[in-house]
Amino acid sequence: MSTLRNSNAERDARTLVHPYSNLSYDTESRLLTIVKGDGCYVEDDQGNRYLEGMAGLWSTSLGFSEERLADAANAQIRKLPYYHLFNHRSTEPSIDLAEKLLSIAPEGLEKVLFANSGSEANDQAVKLVWYYNNQKGRPEKKKIISRWRGYHGVTVASGSLTGLPANHADFDLPIRNIIHADCPSHYHHANPGESEEAFAQRLAESLEAQILAEGPETVAALIAEPVSGSGGVIVPPKGYYERVQKILRKYDILLIADEVICGFGRTGKMFGCETYGLKPDIMTVAKALSSSYLPISATLISGKIYDALVEESRKHGVFAHGVTYAGHPVCAAVALETLKIYEERDILGHVAQVAPHFQARLAALADRPNVGHTRGVGLIGAIELVADKTSRAPFAPARGVGPAFQSHLQRNGVIVRALRDAVAFCPPLIITKEQIDVLFDAVEDGLDFVAREFSAETV
Ligand code: PMP
Repeated sequence: MSTLRNSNAERDARTLVHPYSNLSYDTESRLLTIVKGDGCYVEDDQGNRYLEGMAGLWSTSLGFSEERLADAANAQIRKLPYYHLFNHRSTEPSIDLAEKLLSIAPEGLEKVLFANSGSEANDQAVKLVWYYNNQKGRPEKKKIISRWRGYHGVTVASGSLTGLPANHADFDLPIRNIIHADCPSHYHHANPGESEEAFAQRLAESLEAQILAEGPETVAALIAEPVSGSGGVIVPPKGYYERVQKILRKYDILLIADEVICGFGRTGKMFGCETYGLKPDIMTVAKALSSSYLPISATLISGKIYDALVEESRKHGVFAHGVTYAGHPVCAAVALETLKIYEERDILGHVAQVAPHFQARLAALADRPNVGHTRGVGLIGAIELVADKTSRAPFAPARGVGPAFQSHLQRNGVIVRALRDAVAFCPPLIITKEQIDVLFDAVEDGLDFVAREFSAETV
């Protein structure tokens, strides 16, 4: 181990609290310190190169060395490094970005409220829904339905929306008025022999029953990622959103689309909403909005919600919400340049070209003995690791198959992400067919490793 690694690992262990890490583990031996990036690759402090099969955190859509984004940041930071949007102030990059975002957003979204992270964008979506219903004179209509295995962030409200038990336990979440509905994973929750359509119908009926049990007059909104990412890449069953939206309309319930992962081409269309026919009243975006080069997020809202904010401002003298860095000019300039690159390089056209290859290599893994299921759309996908293919029995969690699989691939120069029993793939959108082969060749080798090291008898 080089002195550099020793020094980074020791200093890291002494100082940092690592998000989403097991803090009881010995950090020093596990640490991976990334020092530079180049296209779809990153390099650690030992000079090892890795194909980044997760685009960081589902987010660096343009890879790790896009010069135009560096130039956009540089130009803006020299011209105006900071200004804010409070109290009727503005900056040109925020105006340009809002205009551009609305020009590509699903129909009906008319205004943009910026923030810094996906969590904040969802957090403010919750606040706006509550504000909206207070303005409408129905203060009891406040409950927000999220789904189990949905991921919406970690702030007090967005962490409550997130439908993963570890995000709630001992954090005293969820807060009041946030409730959870069924997870739409056909693989995990369909009855034996149940078709996707029949499963979607059952989910819709269950959602309606839940709304009726809560009292429709108390239910304000449903939030959904078109395809859930961090919960294990849950691709909705056929007909699911059509049925869900019918119920939402019936009971006057708003739809919040969380496009933090799906937005900007990930599912093959500009937004997951287009891929799955969602007509949201509110849409949140982050991550690929700036290819993650700088932190920026946004909550896009419909005209009727904006009108309510105007009325509340009349009443209170101010719309008392906003963060210091909302629409930060340097972040906005980088995001605007990102959106220009998507358009100029026809990133959707590129995804259309390479995604069929990605999905074909993914689907081919379904034949492997330790793969219970494969699922995906566009350039996102996952496999489900199982100890027994027929019974779908998972490996005992204590055996740590997912983390071992992830580490094996890392030793071979490919980064993927283990999420419970699933392993996710979500590469930069600029990935080539050849690089997709590098990714899936490594995954196949990883499955050989699992077959060798974790045989069924020792489940
Ligand atoms: N929504 C979704 C769908 C996400 O995937 C994430 C992050 N993984 C978030 C919200 C939260 O975003 P952030 O980590 O930027 O707060």
